[in-house]
Amino acid sequence: LNCEFCGSCVSVCPVGALISRPFKFQSRWWALNKVKTVCSYCGTGCQLTLGVKDNKVLTTIYDENQGFHNGQLCTRGRWGYQFVNSDKRLTTPLIRKNGTLTAATWDEAMAVVTKRLSEEKAGGGTTVAGLVTPRLTNEELFLFRKLFKEVLGSDNLDHSAGYAHDALTKGARESLGYSASSAVIADIQKTDLLLVVKSDAYETHPVLGFEVNLGVKRQGVDLRIVSDKRGKLSKLPKAVTYVHKPGSELLLFKAMARVIFDENLADAGSAAVTGLAEFKKSLEGCAPDQVAGICGLTATDITDLARDYAKAEKALILLPLGLGYPGHGAELVQALINLALLTGKIGKEGCGVLIMGEKNNSQGAADLGLYPTAGGKNAAAIIEGCASGTVKTLYIAGENPVISYPNRKLVEAALDKVEFLVVQDLFMTETAEMADVVLPACSFAEKEGTFTSAGKAVQRVNRAVKPVGLSRSDFDVFNQLSSALGGAPISADPETVFAAISAAVTAYRGLSFTSLGDGAVYEVSGAAKFVPVAGASVTMEEGKLALVTGSALNHCGTLSRYGEGPMLVCPEGYLELGREDARKLGIAEDDRIKVTSAAGEIVLKAKVGSRMPQGVVFAPYHFGEQSVNNLSTGAPVTWVSIGK
Ligand code: SF4
Ligand code: SF4
Repeated sequence: LNCEFCGSCVSVCPVGALISRPFKFQSRWWALNKVKTVCSYCGTGCQLTLGVKDNKVLTTIYDENQGFHNGQLCTRGRWGYQFVNSDKRLTTPLIRKNGTLTAATWDEAMAVVTKRLSEEKAGGGTTVAGLVTPRLTNEELFLFRKLFKEVLGSDNLDHSAGYAHDALTKGARESLGYSASSAVIADIQKTDLLLVVKSDAYETHPVLGFEVNLGVKRQGVDLRIVSDKRGKLSKLPKAVTYVHKPGSELLLFKAMARVIFDENLADAGSAAVTGLAEFKKSLEGCAPDQVAGICGLTATDITDLARDYAKAEKALILLPLGLGYPGHGAELVQALINLALLTGKIGKEGCGVLIMGEKNNSQGAADLGLYPTAGGKNAAAIIEGCASGTVKTLYIAGENPVISYPNRKLVEAALDKVEFLVVQDLFMTETAEMADVVLPACSFAEKEGTFTSAGKAVQRVNRAVKPVGLSRSDFDVFNQLSSALGGAPISADPETVFAAISAAVTAYRGLSFTSLGDGAVYEVSGAAKFVPVAGASVTMEEGKLALVTGSALNHCGTLSRYGEGPMLVCPEGYLELGREDARKLGIAEDDRIKVTSAAGEIVLKAKVGSRMPQGVVFAPYHFGEQSVNNLSTGAPVTWVSIGK
């Protein structure tokens, strides 16, 4: 049994014969307080019910009436909740004194932070910067943005290392006129053909993987997968997988467009879309036989794929974003939107591009503009600014750049150099360890507010437990700082802030906090256009293997490392390689192997299987020990050599 640990069998067991180990002997079912909320891991936005007793989240409870997914959760949503009551939670503020982080009161810590931010404000806000996780609620993100842009006068703020939201905030915005998907989750089961790009949705967004499964098995949806490795989706009936060389996907999608032009498969309506002629011109030199070798496919593969996509009456493209996927940026989504526009597959049921943000509120962070919009520094520039001294104060709320941003050495050197570092988090992360002030934050289970899913559903998050220790919600901390720094008076509650959001953000107009019900899917519209993309391919390094990074099924970001469930099943990083490469290199399952790139060297456990094509290896990015960002510097592909 290749079990995914989704827990569905436990949750539907009618007689209670199957019971989860973490919940065993904890409580009677009927003694639990049941709180409906939203999963705080990935952008799928599954609704879940927490079972609470004595101010502790003891389990998740199956409710078949919850959400588009009928209560189904993946392994992370089902078992990852234990981080809420982890004994590793930060319970008190800390201030660095004589080199050591020392317990302090909130008044002391806030006084230090307020003083520093006041000085930055007085200096014009040019040397202060903020990095925020898209795990916070919309209301908290809105307050953080206000704190920076309106109170401190700084446009130096970003999330998700910058590149992990570019597909939305730059790619989709330029191509569609809005920074969101053109499709919704329900389109997965209403389409005729799914084109899943560079993802095993089972790993990145597992419940969307279930939706794909249902679409294929129940609705007869055709499945095409374009990826640099095989995954579970490849095993579904009728799935056709095109395994391409890492880094060649832009060329592949351009070649598909070229076939569509050459075989007159374009939709008549595409002639009216701005930029068609320039787009067509940009495809010169991209005929299938010209790029097939670079892509590692045959010209027939590319032609067949283009025909299948173009001829399907309805076709939907799925693309994941995230810190583990540095190549999934603006150009990739634009190449895909070009295909959809060319074939008339935008703005119709079962059609379009579904851009699957990595975190629970990645879409909200894009909607609310949590990135520089007036020439300020993005995440990469903020890190560089810390290193060069142009950023003197850095406020990090929930991000863990030491592990999750590219180039660990550079990030550590930058955070070491910055004069003043505030980290607000649930845990003493690798980043928090470097801070001057650490503020203990609340988890999603201690908050009220909203998250917005990849499918544009704005959903209510409900408080299940009181704050752990002395932790405070990010909402309260930003509110207090804003007020102390001369900003607007404290916003009383998330409902008031949501009203301000719906007044300020066009897509949220008309939504109200109290009437979101089971989630309100917002509508977006814009002027679509073709945007030519460069389509450069990655140059292979002789004798090296191509390392691609991404998400492991049991983990999401670096937060899941604090959940017992995910760590029980997948406790450490690994390097996955194909059998042929393993045989040639004399590597067996579980061997400890040295992985070396131009940037550094780490030791990982080997995982040998049939998913990886020859010459390509995969490593998940979630883990602190031997973190994969010791090797990668943000390029879509990192060239490595491996040995014992
Ligand atoms: S946990 Fe999920 S995958 Fe594993 S046996 Fe139960 S239902 Fe099947
Ligand atoms: S698919 Fe994502 S949102 Fe749904 S339960 Fe899993 S981690 Fe949570």
